[in-house]
Amino acid sequence: MLPPGKKTKKTVLPPASGERPARPKRGKRTIGDRIADVLDLLEAQWHNEADPPDLQHSEPLDGLILTVLSQHTNDRNRDVAFERLKDRWPLWDDAAAAGESAIEDAIRPAGLAPTKARRILEILGVIYADFDCYSILSLADRGRDKAREYLLSLPGVGAKTAACVLVFDMGLPAFPVDTHIGRFCRRVGFVEEKMSADEISALLEREVAPSRYLGGHVNIIEHGRAVCRARGPLCGECVVSGFCSFYGGGTKL
Ligand code: SF4
Repeated sequence: MLPPGKKTKKTVLPPASGERPARPKRGKRTIGDRIADVLDLLEAQWHNEADPPDLQHSEPLDGLILTVLSQHTNDRNRDVAFERLKDRWPLWDDAAAAGESAIEDAIRPAGLAPTKARRILEILGVIYADFDCYSILSLADRGRDKAREYLLSLPGVGAKTAACVLVFDMGLPAFPVDTHIGRFCRRVGFVEEKMSADEISALLEREVAPSRYLGGHVNIIEHGRAVCRARGPLCGECVVSGFCSFYGGGTKL
């Protein structure tokens, strides 16, 4: 998932004619080394580590609700639903008092409106009970692990949602794995085909330097959308083809 305000915008530049794709270095390489090599190549193309998108909400609860809305829909529908929600009730206090059917109507563009409306109100209720206000700004002070533990305890909040809020809205190190990142990691050969998104996230957080999480995450998403597409990946134009098991250039660990 890519929060709003960030669209795929860069031109895909295939390797220059006749240029050989980058290849893994010789010698014993750990999985961390291989991931770092691939992230370097993606950064050279997409630049989100050097120029990270500013996606932070002033209130992390906004990011949390946005991510709840993103489940099983695309970014555009998610953003329309979130804007409708905030237009009608700029304060979460008012949204919480609006009632389930009113919330459901506001967020309908995101799909699964009854389920998501119920979930949003449950989350707001728990947060108010725990923080005595509709804000989780102070949660970041607990540090990454405690903040994640709390987010995961909220109704319907899974590892990806928690990681998005941590890294985008709290500035804490987490590596969310969505469908693009899962597909990319499996194809390149970082992980086995059957590995779940949550397991891939844990591996990336173990093997990647925390300073690379946000930019690396966005780079892979942009690459997954523009090049390593679900259908018809543009392997001939891909800067990491020399490392890719799917393309035949890499070695599964
Ligand atoms: S070579 Fe093809 S399958 Fe491999 S990462 Fe690039 S686009 Fe994806």
